[in-house]
Amino acid sequence: MKTIIVTGGAGFIGSHLVDAYIEREWRVVVIDNLSTGDQRNVNPRAELRVADLRDPAALAIVDEVKPDVISHQAAQVDVRKSVADPGEDAEINIVASLRLLQKAHDARVKRFIFASSGGAIYGEPAFAPQTEEHPLQPMSPYGCAKLAVEHYMNYFREVQGLATVAMRYANVYGPRQSSRGEAGVIAIFADRMLRKLDVTINGDGGQTRDFVYVGDVVAANMATTEHMELTGAFNVGTGVETSINDLYRAMAHLTGTTAPANHAPAKAGEQIRSVLDGSKLRKTAGLGRPRLLSDALQPTIDYFR
Ligand code: NAD
Repeated sequence: MKTIIVTGGAGFIGSHLVDAYIEREWRVVVIDNLSTGDQRNVNPRAELRVADLRDPAALAIVDEVKPDVISHQAAQVDVRKSVADPGEDAEINIVASLRLLQKAHDARVKRFIFASSGGAIYGEPAFAPQTEEHPLQPMSPYGCAKLAVEHYMNYFREVQGLATVAMRYANVYGPRQSSRGEAGVIAIFADRMLRKLDVTINGDGGQTRDFVYVGDVVAANMATTEHMELTGAFNVGTGVETSINDLYRAMAHLTGTTAPANHAPAKAGEQIRSVLDGSKLRKTAGLGRPRLLSDALQPTIDYFR
């Protein structure tokens, strides 16, 4: 039986990964401080260790468990918090990640998979959809931290021989995404529309995003776990660009919302466009086409209902 540690396994994406590894008969150990995650998301067949990755006790779990693979999903995920306190963001998203990488190397872990962010590290598109070769110009401390970890991963791979893979996610949505906080526009819209509350769009709503269903993010992670030859960085996106206004219309239709959205001033530094070319991983790993928003919005809304 293979063993994996999933950091952030009580969170949205991490908990779906935990389910997938359990389904494949892996022993799964979750490290999570439950800051934004929820114990109820954790598969009962997984072992939850409540610990903060900044605490050396969390790293000691790696020595004890001796995993084959570490999937590092835990992060300070709020871009605006990273702007308000870049130092605190870096303590979690850079320094704790680096210590985990070092520990993975020392403990002879076979593979280190990291939740990076295509949306945050490329910046405004010089061309679209953005491939893995797109210039890297993060526009937030959160994006800088994701990119810094990717650089450390390259060092550990090229110089120290640790197999590392960065998964550059687009905007992920699906069941279990938190509707609290500022991120996760689909979760926020679904929650508010179903409770008949007004919905506010920052800016004119013409800004676009690439919405990728969490099931496709899981499939991408399983592919990079199973294909041991895959290392480096891979986009996980659909290549389809959707404006926030079009998203609003589609969700209003599915929830029976008739009220128009309110508009607030655009948030400073918010990207106008973001869309990822995910074909490199799909071709290399033989994955099918990602689900369309028109197919996967309904199950997402049903979850929030
Ligand atoms: P989430 O908030 O649901 O999950 C993050 C998990 O990490 C939570 O369970 C939280 O409790 C845990 N955590 C946070 N700080 C921790 C710490 N110091 N020690 C231990 N655990 C800690 O968010 P998510 O959307 O599931 O994001 C998962 C990963 O994917 C993150 O690394 C995020 O940056 C990345 N990502 C997400 C998206 C997206 O659209 N959701 C896009 C790109 C990248």
